Amino acid sequence: MSSNSPTPTQKQTLLIVGAGIAGPTLSLTILTHPLLSTLYTPLLFDRLPSTPTATGAAVILSPNALHPLFQLGLQPSILTHSQEALSITMWRSKSPATAPGRRLNGITNPAFAPDLATGLRAIERSTLSRLLLEQVVAHGGEVIWDAKVTGYAQTPEGVEVLLEDGSRRSGHMLVGADGGWSCIRKQLMGGDGADWKPAFAGASAVYGIARQPKGADGEGEEDVAGRGHAVLLDVGGVATWALPGGRVFWSVSVAEAAPPEGKAVTEVEGEYGVVNTGGYSLESTEEILQRYEKLWFPTVGECGDLFKNSERIVRAPLWQRVYDEKDIANLSTAGNVVLIGDAARIMPTYSAALSEYVHERLPRSKAIARQAWWMGVAFMARNWWWRCVRDWVVRWVPMDREGGKGACAKRCVGVGAGAGGNGGEEVKEEKVAGPGAGGWLHGVRLGVEGCYDGGPTLRGVKRDDW
Ligand SMILES: Cc1cc2nc3c(=O)[nH]c(=O)nc-3n(C[C@H](O)[C@H](O)[C@H](O)COP(=O)(O)OP(=O)(O)OC[C@H]3O[C@@H](n4cnc5c(N)ncnc54)[C@H](O)[C@@H]3O)c2cc1C
Repeated sequence: MSSNSPTPTQKQTLLIVGAGIAGPTLSLTILTHPLLSTLYTPLLFDRLPSTPTATGAAVILSPNALHPLFQLGLQPSILTHSQEALSITMWRSKSPATAPGRRLNGITNPAFAPDLATGLRAIERSTLSRLLLEQVVAHGGEVIWDAKVTGYAQTPEGVEVLLEDGSRRSGHMLVGADGGWSCIRKQLMGGDGADWKPAFAGASAVYGIARQPKGADGEGEEDVAGRGHAVLLDVGGVATWALPGGRVFWSVSVAEAAPPEGKAVTEVEGEYGVVNTGGYSLESTEEILQRYEKLWFPTVGECGDLFKNSERIVRAPLWQRVYDEKDIANLSTAGNVVLIGDAARIMPTYSAALSEYVHERLPRSKAIARQAWWMGVAFMARNWWWRCVRDWVVRWVPMDREGGKGACAKRCVGVGAGAGGNGGEEVKEEKVAGPGAGGWLHGVRLGVEGCYDGGPTLRGVKRDDW
């Protein structure tokens, strides 16, 4: 063991900046682990005043993201509060057109994973965050709200975070889980003059959560539960995912020449109720919604019915970048600072379903980011040839199948980095033959194992139980 590794008699404090999704997931992983919980005390900080209630719209969880959440004991609550996508139907329409679109293709049980008995699941982002935070607190974890972190400083004992109110909190290690505009990443990469910002993906999306109106073709709420639709337009498209309780998560993706110049979070009351404009103007956001208001949509007739029935609307510019070790200035002093979640790699919305919120592996993140970039280029279809390729692929690639059958799942078990002083990640890979887990993108299963070489038991916990 290295000299600064924790021993069974001294617990180390892990400062985690950001109590969104990745931060609470890491905290809960430690708190529920028989060995890690004896070695580390996680302490979460967030600039928000309290647990978020209704911020953001929804996220799509794929089996690779569901697996660690289920392992953390969240399976019952996630199954209750999310809706499985039982089918996705793809349509092609002219934008903006009122005439019914042409059905291109459909997928039944997309990314279905037999080992989890579910495929893709849609959940409100604030609900997922709340479920995680409730478990963190139930397991004795601490969250400090209204605590905006402005930076950090190395100390002889470890590291301390600097808070906006001038106070400091010290710990042994620091985890930046503070999202796409991470201040921890900014400092780690060299501060203001450095190239620490994510790259603009040339698009923005407007998201909303709406009560599903009765379908134009007479379908009621029960009929549409679990059915998602994507209407591909000349550029971009409109998509819906069913949420529990007869509600629907919708998104409109549009091409943008430049990112917004304004502040990231601005809530304004307008024609469609309260809109979080994501730094854009209310006028330009309403202009997008007005442009698509009369657009045909299979479940509601017109997209305007979704927009007007929305309980909240959020617009977000799309960013993308996977950060690498070589991006980090002063790598030699960065030993006790790490980044996770969007702070470490940020991807546009097309890849939200592919995110593995906490168990990061850089080569895989890069592969997923590349895939997300190509999906983004194809989905947005800015040029006529991309449009032809996109429409042809969506139309003719066989999709209407039972998801995952015949695919091959990989089973990976990560050995907790630094848990026993070995400081590195060893990954055991095991290929599981037979019915797969939703194909290669969603087929990876990561778990955390602690290793400690000090004896057969640690604080009464048998090695086999770690
Ligand atoms: C409000 C919000 C709404 C979102 N809505 C959607 C959505 O509808 N659909 C979708 O696909 N994705 C959405 N996302 C993004 C998605 O949640 C993330 O991609 C994903 O959850 C990764 O999680 P993360 O924990 O790494 O980052 P995030 O979820 O972004 O969480 C970062 C956390 O860090 C906190 N934080 C940031 N800076 C500081 C600081 N200096 N000091 C202290 N705390 C700080 C933030 O308040 C936030 O709680 C949203 C993110 C946010 C913050």
